[in-house]
Amino acid sequence: MPRTTCTYNNYTTVDGHIDVSVEQFGLIINSDYLFIGASPNALVAYQCCGKDVVKIKCPYDFRCNDVMDHAFSSESCFAGHDTQLHTEHRHYYQEQAQVYICDIEICDFVVCNFIYVAPCIVITRVKSDSQFWGS
Ligand SMILES: [Zn+2]
Repeated sequence: MPRTTCTYNNYTTVDGHIDVSVEQFGLIINSDYLFIGASPNALVAYQCCGKDVVKIKCPYDFRCNDVMDHAFSSESCFAGHDTQLHTEHRHYYQEQAQVYICDIEICDFVVCNFIYVAPCIVITRVKSDSQFWGS
């Protein structure tokens, strides 16, 4: 399992979920439209909360900085200091496509790097946005 997926896997139990499994994935084809697909880094299944897709980013420009420096920078995909994904950022569009294609409600969007002994990681949950698809 790649280091980033492994790092994410270590965080899935932090919130007290029950019976969590993280499975790596390659390409997932939409069941209604066989010509479109998505490539999440993983699917996580919680006995308590259902399934999420996982997308992991390791921003090269911030490879030497604390990941929170990235989160709070003007170039960040996060909106303000609440680490919610900015709805006009390309990553938001990508994650909306992931949840739609995979027919799953939630994407765990993960930003991490490895500048410290322990990985530096931010996880934000992106919910399927019906208004996004309506506009
Ligand atoms: Zn749970």
